[in-house]
Amino acid sequence: MVIFGGTGDLAMRKLLPALFRRFADGQIPAASRIIGVAREEQSLDDYRERVARALGDAVAGDGELAGRIPDFLRLLDYRPLDATRDAGWNDFAELMHVQGSERIRVFYLSTSPRIFVDLCQRLRQYGLNDASARVVIEKPIGHDLESACAINDAVGAVFEEQQIFRIDHYLGKETVQNLLALRFANALFEPLWNAAHIDHVQITVAETVGVEQRAGYYDHAGALRDMVQNHLLQLLCMVAMEPPSSLDSDAVRDEKLKVLHALQPINDDNAERLTVRGQYRAGAANGGAAPGYLEDLGQNSSDTETFVALKAEVGNWRWAGVPFYLRTGKRLPARVSEIVVNFRAIPYSIFAEGSGTPTPNKLVLRLQPDEGVKLWLMAKYPGPGGLRLTCVPLDMSFADAFGVAQPDAYERLLLDVVRGNLTLFMRRDEVEAAWRWIDPILAAWASSGETPRGYTAGTWGPSASVALIERDGRTWHDDDS
Ligand code: NAP
Repeated sequence: MVIFGGTGDLAMRKLLPALFRRFADGQIPAASRIIGVAREEQSLDDYRERVARALGDAVAGDGELAGRIPDFLRLLDYRPLDATRDAGWNDFAELMHVQGSERIRVFYLSTSPRIFVDLCQRLRQYGLNDASARVVIEKPIGHDLESACAINDAVGAVFEEQQIFRIDHYLGKETVQNLLALRFANALFEPLWNAAHIDHVQITVAETVGVEQRAGYYDHAGALRDMVQNHLLQLLCMVAMEPPSSLDSDAVRDEKLKVLHALQPINDDNAERLTVRGQYRAGAANGGAAPGYLEDLGQNSSDTETFVALKAEVGNWRWAGVPFYLRTGKRLPARVSEIVVNFRAIPYSIFAEGSGTPTPNKLVLRLQPDEGVKLWLMAKYPGPGGLRLTCVPLDMSFADAFGVAQPDAYERLLLDVVRGNLTLFMRRDEVEAAWRWIDPILAAWASSGETPRGYTAGTWGPSASVALIERDGRTWHDDDS
């Protein structure tokens, strides 16, 4: 496995710790090689030392695991190489050939997408794109449809689609895979999984952090491109897709693509009614005072949204009239990602007025923190004194139910790349279909001449996002209420 960008933030914080944990679990043979590549000149010893520190931080508090770090470091190699220049590539290619072409070679492009094209061209030029090769590309895949097509064309000119792993780490989360198990391994839900029984669906991905060190990148992206185009739409697809005929990668991806094609357009005609964008102002977050977005950015003005809420509709028989409310933002009060499926109210209550009104059932799939599933049901409050109805959750925290730590999404996805399993990766047509839906929203915002609405850091976004759902007679799910 070659990690281009092997000294970067993603490699140090996510990829190498994920590989280490899989190694410690015996899933990566000792004869494997993990080769970090970046422009910086440094010795292998220096690189290993740096990785050791990153792994130490990642497994802090687990002495037994930390004890395995030296064994893992033996798998590591480092090559200083510039993706945009030829110097050093002959040696690198030789190293790869020495490793033997019967081995699976994974090229993980953990660099800025600006150099994806150069990297792929060089991999071809130096004969490294044979059938044993796989390439992993990180988001963002473009900033609009046109640029996404350009990246896909360039990567597709070097690698077959079956060799291209477009990663969306949300798909590697346990809860998302559990959604497949829940929907398709139980008889209970699928008969109810349609407009006749589901009132609406909410998908929330909330972060407490601001833009941190990524301000430069973020200001050119914004929440719609950075989160909705990929993560939130992928989650929506997993909820809304028809049952695939198998878990075969194309069977699943064909069904997700149909959902993306069925999304009703949001454009100049309706964007004002169906979308809300916001930008955080100074407030309080993470237990202290938090600066506003412009201060984080170090600029006087910016039209970039750090919050989006929108109402999407999937135009097909299963979902006609069922809104999918999506929201995501930075500097919100809690770090939480969840999908909430809200069922319809019962058609008629047999209970006396004093018993209370039955609350519609909800299925809450929590991706983070504390991955798990909660099914909110009505029950009788215990004791004599009449029948009083109360809403209680059947609560399954995966950590408690299975007694095992939940692996990070990258652990699963990196091994899937080695196994050649594309089910949890995005196909080219999915990425492009998502951009085809997103681009008109961006265009509508640009032509509206309006700026994002301000919201105070530490709140749930602009009040207009509450109005977006409440004018339909619904409210955002709040686990505490
Ligand atoms: P980063 O910290 O800026 O790291 C970039 C890496 O690329 C460094 O190792 C850098 O090392 C190397 N690099 C830059 N130019 C190069 C060149 N011409 N040839 C070879 N190597 C080069 O970026 P990152 O945060 O790790 O992000 C990497 C990718 O993952 C990006 O596409 C990003 O959008 C995506 N991503 C990151 C995160 C995250 O949490 N960090 C999350 C989701 C997606 P040198 O400067 O020494 O060459």
